Amino acid sequence: MIRIFPIVALVGALACANLTLSAHAGEVAPVLVIHGGAGTLTRDRLTPELEADYRAALAASLEVGYERLLAGEPSEVAVIAAIEVLETSPLFNAGIGAVFTHSQTVEHDASIMRGVDQQAGAVAGVSRIRSPINAAFAVLGQSEHVMLSGTGAEAFADQVGLELVDNSVFHTERRLRQLRARQGKSAALSLDENSHKFGTVGAVALDQAGHLSAGTSTGGMTNKRFGRIGDSPIIGAGTWADTDCAVSATGHGEYFIRYAVAHEICARVRLAGASITDAGNAVIFDVLKPIEAEGGVIILSASGEVAMPFNSAGMYRGVMRAKDDIAIEIFASDGAL
Ligand code: ASP
Repeated sequence: MIRIFPIVALVGALACANLTLSAHAGEVAPVLVIHGGAGTLTRDRLTPELEADYRAALAASLEVGYERLLAGEPSEVAVIAAIEVLETSPLFNAGIGAVFTHSQTVEHDASIMRGVDQQAGAVAGVSRIRSPINAAFAVLGQSEHVMLSGTGAEAFADQVGLELVDNSVFHTERRLRQLRARQGKSAALSLDENSHKFGTVGAVALDQAGHLSAGTSTGGMTNKRFGRIGDSPIIGAGTWADTDCAVSATGHGEYFIRYAVAHEICARVRLAGASITDAGNAVIFDVLKPIEAEGGVIILSASGEVAMPFNSAGMYRGVMRAKDDIAIEIFASDGAL
């Protein structure tokens, strides 16, 4: 049975959380890291104009999320704010602009995890919730469950006052062309459209109280069938946060589920004492690459270290460590941030 708390109760709970946090505010320099998906991203596939659009969208996401951290708000609030910006951009495979299923609909998956108390929420296979990441957060804060799916998740979102929209709101011509090409019905794709990329969005944040959160939102894989669910809404596969380590993933979800990628990375940090860089590299390059499991992750530690390993040609990614200190990279050749 789903327990619904009034929105005021949630706002109250968040306010209390803020009061608690304010006792520690300013002790830790906040950090926000985001990704907009990995894939065969090479310079020759992106026009300068499109690259500028991607960079602008990633910068807007970082700015909006980081403002919440500077205001002393908890890391999960920053994660949601950053992801919401990317869900409203048609450039990414999340919210508006998500990829099409085999039957030409959009089905979203999203999850969020708060490290300090290992609370988590997720929605899977939802097609009418305007902001899937907000629905995942509502599951975390306003239900006794961790993951809700399909029409049940939509009914829950409606009950807690989230906006439901017609599925066509999420449709874009670009994704339709990609679906048709994938189904062998057309080959007229631009170079960018033809590049193989995942496009899921995610964020990890460290707040002023030293607490970590991670979140991920996606439309999944183009041409998916039979209610396929990827790694993004699965806690431990596409998203993980504990007190020391937070991860959001993008890549071929079937592998990320089977290798519990997000949890595996943080387990290596917690149990083997690995640095986040070594743990991330080991899983992305030593575990996934040999089995041709393409993708990448963003990782953040409680001391503010960032790692963003990926085994594809590129990954949209960005880090913000202070006001006006934004770093965005796309291609492998951009080097480490
Ligand atoms: N990981 C996502 C999935 O398999 C796809 C992506 O990263 O874009 O559903």
